[in-house]
Amino acid sequence: MSTGRLIIDLDAVVANWRSLDAMTNCKTAAVVKANGYGLGAANVAKALFKEGVRQFFVAVVEEAEVIRAELGPKPEINVFSGHMKGDTDAVRELRLTPMINSVDQLTRHLETLPDHPFGVQLDTGMNRLGMEINEWAAVAEVALAQRPKLVMSHLACADEPDHPMNPYQLAQFRKMTDGISVPRSLAATGGILLGPEYHFDLTRPGIGLYGGLPYAEAQPVVELDLPVVQIRDVAEGEVVGYGNSWQASRPSRIATVSGGYADGIIRMLSDRTRLYHGETPCPLVGRVSMDLLTIDVTDLTEEPAKLTLIGPQQSVDDLAADARTIGYEILTQLGARYQRKTFGK
Ligand SMILES: *Cc1c(COP(=O)(O)O)cnc(C)c1O
Repeated sequence: MSTGRLIIDLDAVVANWRSLDAMTNCKTAAVVKANGYGLGAANVAKALFKEGVRQFFVAVVEEAEVIRAELGPKPEINVFSGHMKGDTDAVRELRLTPMINSVDQLTRHLETLPDHPFGVQLDTGMNRLGMEINEWAAVAEVALAQRPKLVMSHLACADEPDHPMNPYQLAQFRKMTDGISVPRSLAATGGILLGPEYHFDLTRPGIGLYGGLPYAEAQPVVELDLPVVQIRDVAEGEVVGYGNSWQASRPSRIATVSGGYADGIIRMLSDRTRLYHGETPCPLVGRVSMDLLTIDVTDLTEEPAKLTLIGPQQSVDDLAADARTIGYEILTQLGARYQRKTFGK
């Protein structure tokens, strides 16, 4: 085996969905955009569908095809980017529910697909997607007369429970939607953890399903083992890797393992993380290259056949912290070259 082995535990995904669902008294959807946060949207959606999940969210219509093909006609597949120019055929044929983001999108939808389901996305301060308060005031009556499936908004700071943006956005959302008789949704993973006033009728967790922060109690979902290609002795004073960036301060053993920035092990991790042999940390030394890493295994008593980058000793979020990023980015960059082993459900 010459590529890394990525193990994806769908039972853990399902367990995480169940735990998040149990925190609310409302419905719980599943966000499977970006190929299920890099873990395989079809497999993830299938496992969750078996568990009873009937509402899924993707970012763009192109992502919906594989999910509709896998799950058949039953589940609702909602699209955050709404009904963009060129989306009409896919929205109709795949029976998607676009979250309408603007007056333009609303017009397009009602003109091209009258009677086809849709939702509405409102902007409550994040300034990314959705209608703003004045736009919504202008078209709410027309839109609501068509009985949208959902009215939703998204929190910008839900991973910081004490951030004043959270109650501000909650108040904006209430101001824009109180009194309407359409199901409402505000919370993603972080919003679920903020408490019941954020839950409304439907929550939309993504990262929590896949074992990432801010859901600290999540079960880990992925493990990543990288095979050792060769091991060499390096004398004190010798250098390792591109740019001579690491120099041995003692006689060392260096393992070269298969995996690099082309596999999502971002270059920022150079000299900043470690791989594990069982419970023993082995520092990544020198620069991450496209296909290879160099690891200091001097302190091991045996020659490892593989080393673990993500596993029991080091979570996705630990790795993200080393890389000065977030778990979301580590997960969604996990490479296509790995041998992927998906088990469970
Ligand atoms: C990505 C996304 C989610 C899921 O967010 P997580 O933080 O991964 O739970 C929910 N809603 C919207 C609008 C999103 O873009």
